[in-house]
Amino acid sequence: MFTAFLIKYAEIGVKGKNRHLFEEALVRQIEFALDKVGGQFVTRRTQGRIYIDVISEQDHPPKADEKHPLKVFGVAERDFDFDETVAGLQKVFGISGICPVVYVEDKGFEELGKDVVKFMDEVYPDKHKTFKVCARRARKNYPKDTMELNADLGEVLLNAFPDLSVDVHHPEIELNVEIREKIYIYSQIIPGPGGMPVGTGGKAMLLLSGGIDSPVAGYMISKRGVSLEAVYFHAPPYTSERAKQKVVDLAEYVADYAGPLKLHVVNFTDIQLYIYEKCPHDELTIIMRRYMMRIAEAIALETGCLGLVTGESIGQVASQTMQALMSTNEVCTLPVYRPLIAFDKQDIVDISEKIDTYETSIQPYEDCCTIFVAKHPVTKPNQKVIRIHEQVLEDKIDELVKTALETQEVIEVKGRK
Ligand code: ATP
Ligand code: MG
Repeated sequence: MFTAFLIKYAEIGVKGKNRHLFEEALVRQIEFALDKVGGQFVTRRTQGRIYIDVISEQDHPPKADEKHPLKVFGVAERDFDFDETVAGLQKVFGISGICPVVYVEDKGFEELGKDVVKFMDEVYPDKHKTFKVCARRARKNYPKDTMELNADLGEVLLNAFPDLSVDVHHPEIELNVEIREKIYIYSQIIPGPGGMPVGTGGKAMLLLSGGIDSPVAGYMISKRGVSLEAVYFHAPPYTSERAKQKVVDLAEYVADYAGPLKLHVVNFTDIQLYIYEKCPHDELTIIMRRYMMRIAEAIALETGCLGLVTGESIGQVASQTMQALMSTNEVCTLPVYRPLIAFDKQDIVDISEKIDTYETSIQPYEDCCTIFVAKHPVTKPNQKVIRIHEQVLEDKIDELVKTALETQEVIEVKGRK
């Protein structure tokens, strides 16, 4: 029955000249999310609001106006699917509420009364509820003013459904009736994901492994409006093609929220083997991680990223003690964002289940870090000692890093279909 959605967004960050940037980013992400959903849609920005119109077969194609050229999106071959559409919108950061709207033509007050009764009847099978009508007139030539509309529509509803009662202060149902060129009726506000629209907060480079944590870290940073690129270090033949595919799959889930992203796949084998050959084995993980950070930063700087993002959390493993984090941090000049730094594992698992990455993350494929891991890795690396031990790698490691950068594969990740 619904013919449109009114999108509510938090006012924070939407002031002054930022407003159109915020709204444009939001519309872009809405179109990205709904392009995979059954139906055909257009977005419309009017008077500080965003509407998504569902195009139905009876409709005349909606008209473009000069300011907002029309872009139709969605999967035309499939019928409009309400649940799928709402699920898609719930992945668009910046949306605080999703209101399903019914449009009706203005055929006089009597018809409007019938439309409102029909709306109430279909949306609320159980009528033992309190309500109030909130009328608004964007078109001032309507014969009744808002006070009259509130009172008269309220009366029509009470007559139709004796179980309803009015509560103007804390109603269970707030029935909005907006008089525009058409009349818009809506009452539900389905919660959106909150956050800021992706693209309003710059871009960051996510170190994405096949584990549970890093996809969650990517999701969390993109919730603040940051768009992403990602880098994955693989070590063939020690890590399999399937392990790589798992990371691509995880990137697809992250992209559902973060938008399309580039995944840089870096071959880390020769670097790992060389470190293994030259450095004390209990320091392998730390030194490897320092090279991961250096390479990630090099790609980040080249691609306009403003920071690195990892899934690290204090004390989770040997390489995530404060001392180890200090050691991996010191090789970077870009800020390293660690959204999970103070999260317990279970809290991270909960989010990964919410964003559907958990089942993929727990597939048992080898990770390059675990293959060369020592039995007793240092947990409190001494910064000076690590630096000295790294020196034996000399110029050859720079060459290996250069080759790794030159041979990286870039995969375009567009989100799941
Ligand atoms: P995750 O669950 O994200 O794999 P983890 O608990 O296994 O994390 P580590 O293996 O110590 O922890 O990795 C810490 C962080 O380093 C990861 O969250 C990720 O950001 C990055 N990282 C680890 N391995 C790789 C890899 N092969 N490619 C890219 N980034 C990696
Ligand atoms: Mg890992």
